[in-house]
Amino acid sequence: MEAMLANRLQKLRPYPFAALRRKIAEARKAGKEVLNLGIGDPDRPTPDPVVAEMCRAVRDEADLNRHRYGCDVPTAEFPQAVKDFYRRRFGVTLADDQVVQTSGSKDAIVQFAMGILDPGDMAIAPEPGYPTYNIGHTFASAVTHYVPLLRENGFLPDLEAIPAEVRRLAKLLWVNYPNNPTTAVCGLDFFRSVVEFARKNDILIASDQSYSENTYDGCVAPSILQVEGAADVAVEFFSLSKAFCMTGWRIGMAVGHAGALKALGLVKDNSDNGTLRAIQFAGAKALDMAETLIPEINAVYRRRRDLVVDTLNGLGWQLEKPKGTIYVWAAVPERFGGDSAAFASDLFDKTGVVVTPGAVYGQHGEGYFRISLTYPDEVLTRAMERLAGQR
Ligand SMILES: *Cc1c(COP(=O)(O)O)cnc(C)c1O
Repeated sequence: MEAMLANRLQKLRPYPFAALRRKIAEARKAGKEVLNLGIGDPDRPTPDPVVAEMCRAVRDEADLNRHRYGCDVPTAEFPQAVKDFYRRRFGVTLADDQVVQTSGSKDAIVQFAMGILDPGDMAIAPEPGYPTYNIGHTFASAVTHYVPLLRENGFLPDLEAIPAEVRRLAKLLWVNYPNNPTTAVCGLDFFRSVVEFARKNDILIASDQSYSENTYDGCVAPSILQVEGAADVAVEFFSLSKAFCMTGWRIGMAVGHAGALKALGLVKDNSDNGTLRAIQFAGAKALDMAETLIPEINAVYRRRRDLVVDTLNGLGWQLEKPKGTIYVWAAVPERFGGDSAAFASDLFDKTGVVVTPGAVYGQHGEGYFRISLTYPDEVLTRAMERLAGQR
């Protein structure tokens, strides 16, 4: 029997830069140093108190449920920590049915789409954007309408420009600020306009809050739930991955609209078995200690951001320092005619430095590239020296 793939999955775009990938693999094989700045996965370890709590809980022989399916034996501590965190951080009060623990946002984004979209439904996602929104829609046999994020609009979607037909058909709109990949941040005013848009058009909002804690220079990212009445129209996905250097742990939460969370909960109940209790305890510890743990993590990213932006600006770019996320987003030099893959390939040939071509994030990402700050200082420093040596 031949290997098969469901029709709806054939629409998923394969990773587009096979040629660049091959080059990188060949260079590695030939023993050349490859300085990969492509992936957004924190290099810094999870903070000690979180690891200690994990070890305590996993060893706690008095907890007779410590090894069991996490969905059947949820801790009281995690949802309580979520509520406390939302109250302290955003001034938002969450009811019991407004909190669902997730196994990280990527999983939850796909499960959520399965929970609320029917085949043929339409959902709106930003472009450039995190690919998983569209992947969730595709798994649900729904279709994605992309809204462009353009520099001239501060990489915010122009909601007024969304065609009437799309507004009528769409069930869901994704927003993500601080934004991956553009690094844009938004204010509460933007979230107010999103909530108004949701009400007017009867469209549910899903806000991906993966980077709300990774901000700099006094920027404080809001939650959409700070907008009055937002929980009637919006769900927010918060992840501990980037905030606390916990990508491998797989823990986060969805909060807000209770009905939508019920749909997510139903999919979760029927497709995963929850998160190990020790990880839930550790997640609660992280949230409880957010104010202590996060500044140290962000100080590292801020230093690296300055290094990368100063280097690029020394080479002729005119970048402002991003106020959020763990990336730098920059336009490719003019001589590449906006071809981000050609730029990335040329840069790799000359320097061994790997950046992500913006076209990975969709058509409107073309013309840009992304550098991730999740690499050790000495790697970033060497990469920047090689870039500077190019001049
Ligand atoms: C990293 C990332 C996520 C997923 O994080 P999880 O580890 O799955 O919680 C979700 N959205 C965006 C925009 C991201 O960059």
